[in-house]
Amino acid sequence: MKLNNKVNKIAFIGMGLINSSLVRDLKVNNFYNNSVAYSRRNSTLKKIKNLQLVDTIESDPRKAVQDADLIIIGIPVAAYESIFNTIKDFIKPGAILTDVGSVKKEIIKRISKKIPKSINFIPGHPIAGTEKSGPESGFVGLFKGGWCILTPDKKANSSSIKLVKNMWKSVGMKVDIMDPNHHDLVLAITSHIPHIVAYSIVGTVANLEASVKKEVIKYAASGFRDFTRIAASDPIMWRDIVLLNKKSILKMLEYFKKDLGKLEQAIKNNNDSFLLKLFSKTRKIRKDIIK
Ligand code: NAP
Repeated sequence: MKLNNKVNKIAFIGMGLINSSLVRDLKVNNFYNNSVAYSRRNSTLKKIKNLQLVDTIESDPRKAVQDADLIIIGIPVAAYESIFNTIKDFIKPGAILTDVGSVKKEIIKRISKKIPKSINFIPGHPIAGTEKSGPESGFVGLFKGGWCILTPDKKANSSSIKLVKNMWKSVGMKVDIMDPNHHDLVLAITSHIPHIVAYSIVGTVANLEASVKKEVIKYAASGFRDFTRIAASDPIMWRDIVLLNKKSILKMLEYFKKDLGKLEQAIKNNNDSFLLKLFSKTRKIRKDIIK
């Protein structure tokens, strides 16, 4: 899509899988004039430089946000508060601050009261990704066809919402506006619980005796392999997501455990019609998603 207003300076706080994919796409789209990226470790800064992802790399986040018109936070959610305390007084009035974090309510609670009124905070979450991490894992087209959820405050500035919306649309996403609580509940069941299940199943295998484990890995076919892909996701990122979305996850886990219990009973009782009904229903859901 074409954009009316080109951003002058864009700053990325964190440059891993998500922000590096975003900058690759935005560069192609000519979305901004100047770009800068902050990352914590020198080794990551070196990678960003070698990949020529941005015009300037910065080891000081305060310098990165100076004069930036649009700032995009892309670091693990538990690290938001500390980085925000460092940068908040260096953001210019009128700038737009957004993020890509997978949890919304808790991070909004933690940082929004510290944000000066002159800064427009538009929280966001692009629902796209892989199990890989780091700027070397990003690629053009990661976001194409997916949904991005924005969770701005009711009083948020409409032109800032529009700009962030346009940014995600320009990389091929459809955009929805949602209440942060609702976002966290929906994501708990569609993304967070599946990750917890995968971590749990792969963890069970890891706890089995060495000989059995060897067999499992040797004969792993699509089912277990799919779980190991999900369970290979970044441990720090997922620790943070699980703890910061605790309430919604625990609520959804209750539903999940109840249904697992029903399935267990059906197997015990040879309840073939229950099994057939459930497996047919889930097959249809898969078909609908692919469609
Ligand atoms: P990533 O590839 O692991 O990159 C993380 C970035 O954050 C790196 O620049 C890293 O810097 C920096 N960082 C890590 N810990 C930090 C800390 N304590 N303080 C300051 N900077 C820190 O991560 P990602 O997958 O792009 O995820 C970034 C955000 O996107 C997360 O909030 C996640 O919830 C969200 N998200 C992820 C996915 C996904 O599938 N991966 C999908 C949607 C949303 P150094 O390398 O220099 O240490």
